[in-house]
Amino acid sequence: MDGDRRGKGGTATGQWGESTRLVHAGRDPWRQHGFVNAPIYRGSTVLYPTYDDLMHRRSRYVYGTKGTPTTEALETAWSELSGAAGTALAPSGLSAVALALMSAVKAGDHVLVTDSVYRPTREFCDELLTRLGVETQYYDPVIGAGIDALMRENTSVVFVEAPGSQTFEMQDIPAIAEVAHARGAVVMMDNTWATPLYFPPHARGVDLAIEAGTKYLSGNSDLLLGLVSANERCWPALRRTYELFSSCPGPEDVFLCLRGMRTMKLRLREHERQAFDMARWLAERPEVARVMHPGLESDPGHAIWKRDFTGASGLFSIELKPASRAALAAFLDGLKLFGMGYSWGGFESLVIPFDCTTYRTATRFEAQGPCLRFHIGLEDLDDLKADLDAGFARLRASA
Ligand SMILES: *Cc1c(COP(=O)(O)O)cnc(C)c1O
Repeated sequence: MDGDRRGKGGTATGQWGESTRLVHAGRDPWRQHGFVNAPIYRGSTVLYPTYDDLMHRRSRYVYGTKGTPTTEALETAWSELSGAAGTALAPSGLSAVALALMSAVKAGDHVLVTDSVYRPTREFCDELLTRLGVETQYYDPVIGAGIDALMRENTSVVFVEAPGSQTFEMQDIPAIAEVAHARGAVVMMDNTWATPLYFPPHARGVDLAIEAGTKYLSGNSDLLLGLVSANERCWPALRRTYELFSSCPGPEDVFLCLRGMRTMKLRLREHERQAFDMARWLAERPEVARVMHPGLESDPGHAIWKRDFTGASGLFSIELKPASRAALAAFLDGLKLFGMGYSWGGFESLVIPFDCTTYRTATRFEAQGPCLRFHIGLEDLDDLKADLDAGFARLRASA
């Protein structure tokens, strides 16, 4: 059946390097009259030439929800980039998280989720999984092989996210995966920060890897999309769950996501370079208590990052020295180049204040001063630094 081939790709690009795969995966110009890119297929109905063909569903495509050449192009490309057996798409990153979880749990199960998980993932577990009779237990992100002590007979999923959402703790994913697999559980990872370019999830023991395409695949803050890639073990259940939900993204967003993927490596490199520079600059500031960026030698997760990751993206956090609410507002409200808002991964720089002391359950996040998460965009660094420098002056003036 069609679904078995989906995401595996007609043109195997596996023998090529990563950059070549980024350019060639999921593309077959000779299927589309020589045009370089797969076109946007809009469609629900797929016609069958004869009664017999219809009855046997004898056609390359079956129905709009089950895939089109457009969706298949992105699925195939992502599988090849991720080293996955198959990829399923979702209309947002969070819906990809939900899809991955729903493909792997049943009533009565126990799932282990890192305490540093993206907060809406936590809400999905606490509200929806609880309603379905699945128990979620949060664990210390830096637990490593110690996760063994938390595993139960009915533990079906260990969910990891590294670095942690907002707080950037690193997790020893190979160690966690070894324990989880020995106990028969599935390892699921939100890999949005690193992307497969900086962390090849399946080669490191992850069974189901989630990517919010909204971030670096889009690269332009102009779409919402999610992807779940699976290894051979988890692909059939993932694909079937995708079909049952039929929660499919629109063809324009899929097309734009694939377009973004072609240049993602170049953009990511620049975000990485700029963010490293900015993180080091911030670490020297007297107003800053600490920088949370696993690529910095001083970071507690640096050794794991260096061992398992091949790069860092443009997102990191800082803790300021204690400051009043008014001083923080003065810092943030006057910024001219840093936008204040959720999401990230686009060309523009962003900042948000956060406080995760209020909702963590397995660990305490220690911070004396206000915390800020930055996404470093593609602007001139000198301009970005001047913007923050003026912000720090306002912060000091109103302290
Ligand atoms: C943004 C984000 C998501 C969700 O993506 P949406 O498309 O906004 O739903 C999931 N995980 C992480 C780590 C994210 O940053």
